[in-house]
Amino acid sequence: MRIGALEAGGTKMVCAVATEQGEILERESFPTTTPEESIPSLTSWFAERNVDALGIGAFGPTCVDPKSPDFGTILETPKLPWRGYALRAAFVDALDVPVGYDTDVNVACLGEATFGDSRGIADLVYVTIGTGVGAGVMCGGQLLHGMLHPEAGHMLLNRVPGDEGPCVCPSHDSCLEGLAAGPSIERRWGAKGFELADRPEVWELEASYLAQMCYNLVLCYSPRRIILGGGVMHQEQLYPLVREKTLRYLGGYITAPELEDIDSYIAAPSLSDNQGVLGCVELGRRALAAASA
Ligand code: ADP
Ligand code: ZN
Repeated sequence: MRIGALEAGGTKMVCAVATEQGEILERESFPTTTPEESIPSLTSWFAERNVDALGIGAFGPTCVDPKSPDFGTILETPKLPWRGYALRAAFVDALDVPVGYDTDVNVACLGEATFGDSRGIADLVYVTIGTGVGAGVMCGGQLLHGMLHPEAGHMLLNRVPGDEGPCVCPSHDSCLEGLAAGPSIERRWGAKGFELADRPEVWELEASYLAQMCYNLVLCYSPRRIILGGGVMHQEQLYPLVREKTLRYLGGYITAPELEDIDSYIAAPSLSDNQGVLGCVELGRRALAAASA
């Protein structure tokens, strides 16, 4: 079987074809422009490769409820040409194969839980800290959707005393994405994240915000592991800082064997930036299995 994978991001669309076992046979990226420009070349790409199923991981907010008439539609995004666009339907119509659909962060979580070091962990949170912050959540082996899908990237955080930096989120005064995503680091310190590598105060503050996030994630979702990925986490000095601060914030309130091994509890991604694509592959595989059941 040939499973198609489409990681639909705000800046680029990553297309791939893989086996059900997660061996990537081919991949290609296209810039995300408008649906009119982007979609015909993407549908042809998959049609020419005769995929048996497709999995799509899309930027949000988007409807991930299979029972809704809006399933697979992009919702109130600031990327205006995509607002209200029926993304999944475009591929169903063009390819006539089973199409699985979820958020980009949920598929990254699924990729790690299926093909990565977290294989077999059924309660997992995957967070990307990049241009924005997003969290994919798996509970008991199921990707969490609920009313819409989690938007934990905008959780309310306490400002670290003395931090006068701006919260760059247009909707909130003190949210995680506004205080800790890449653009926030850039605004606060006047340089890009990678240029600040040798400024310990930058990462100390960043780690305080990410540790508040981990504290909230532990208490709300009770995951057995939290994976932190995205461009900002290329600053690997963040991991030990976040681990230590998370334990400090938790204050011994939660005791669990997982937390005793904090280095593997708060972990880096394990699939070399393929977690999203591989999660799409698993989503496509599941859509195919459901269609043939
Ligand atoms: P996106 O979130 O757009 O998919 P990334 O996960 O690569 O993409 O995140 C991009 C953000 O991460 C940018 O704000 C960039 O400044 C920041 N970033 C990328 N590389 C690094 C790095 N090595 N150190 C710190 N920040 C980085
Ligand atoms: Zn926000």
